[in-house]
Amino acid sequence: MTVIYLDNNATTAVAPEVVEALMPYLTGEYFNPSSMYEAARGPADAVARSRRLIAKLLGHARATEILFTSCASESNNTAIFGTIAANPERRHIITTSVEHPAVYEVGKDLERRGIEVEFIPVDTQGRIDKTEFVRALRPDTLMVSVMHANNETGVIYPVEELSRITKETDPSIVFHTDATQTVGKLPIDLRGSFANVDLLSFSGHKLHAPKGIGALYIRRGTRCRPFLLGGHQEDGRRAGTENVAFIVGLARALELAMERLDADVPRITGMRDRLQTELMARIPYLEVNGGEAKRLDNTLNVACHFIEGEGILYQLSEHGICASSGSACTSGSLEPSHVLRAMNVPFTAVHGSVRFSLSHYTTDAEIDRVIEVFPEIVASLRRLSPYWDAAKNAPRPEALSMMEQTEMPQAGA
Ligand code: PLP
Repeated sequence: MTVIYLDNNATTAVAPEVVEALMPYLTGEYFNPSSMYEAARGPADAVARSRRLIAKLLGHARATEILFTSCASESNNTAIFGTIAANPERRHIITTSVEHPAVYEVGKDLERRGIEVEFIPVDTQGRIDKTEFVRALRPDTLMVSVMHANNETGVIYPVEELSRITKETDPSIVFHTDATQTVGKLPIDLRGSFANVDLLSFSGHKLHAPKGIGALYIRRGTRCRPFLLGGHQEDGRRAGTENVAFIVGLARALELAMERLDADVPRITGMRDRLQTELMARIPYLEVNGGEAKRLDNTLNVACHFIEGEGILYQLSEHGICASSGSACTSGSLEPSHVLRAMNVPFTAVHGSVRFSLSHYTTDAEIDRVIEVFPEIVASLRRLSPYWDAAKNAPRPEALSMMEQTEMPQAGA
């Protein structure tokens, strides 16, 4: 069965051009870039070149401001724990209620360690409450961490504006953004619109580089204590022998993404919008999570009222279609995602949300196939759903009012 891969916010296929660029460093040029002999110069130069290229592609940043890590989770952990360790005098942090777990769980952990963490709420479309954000800034605020775009819904956050407000309030507050879903998909200008961002995280495997390589941009002068101690690699900011091949791959992947951006954005947006329009037309009681917000062009998260996302994914998978749901399997029970919870997605849809995420490699024929298969899957699952039974027999206003409740009604209620 051919695979239709529409889970690109989870990970992406490694681009052939990236494989080609990195392969020499997995074969002949395997030397440790820190070694003193001549043979090691090739890998050392490759790391230096890649660092310069990435810095340039992110808006002419300085090469020394790019720190290579193993993944975005490491970049986020380094950014937040590193800032706290370097600035112990301030103990208040602001983030949002929709961050990826690599920030959200760090926030929860910090709370247990006695740091005050404010999780700014979002509205039903996933948009941040700016008034709450401004109100949250305090004289003892150490840092702000707001993601650039959400991995589940694709909703884009106004990092330019929030970082400007933060610095106007107090230039010493450190501003971090998790840009894992946007690097390579949106232009990022660290000398222009992102000039107030101090720390920015991203990961290779979301932009057609391999898994196991990430980066953290650290603006010159930002105080951030190293997370991994040991050797002197990365200017003493992260111990461990550099992953030369994947660093080269990350730089090549970002270069490709930026070259393709102007052509990819309209093409991918067109396919995503067609998928959305056709599914909305064919499936009753379907909503787009974050549909009214500014969104990434490649992401469509649909709430299928009255059924379970896991069932949908299973049936999609039977057709070779890879997508993902908003639920995370925690300790044997299916917990709805904290992101959809924060958006107050009603109980009839919070378990029935499915995310399709497209890429450069997505084709029109693949989208056609999903448009053909998905409505039938939803209809067949609804035939088995007691909630659907109640809703479809109820007058429309009653069904709609069921769809507004965020908690499941108690039995007999
Ligand atoms: N942040 C965001 C927004 C993400 O989407 C992801 C991955 O899904 C991560 C962080 C973690 O990335 P990694 O797998 O590279 O640790």
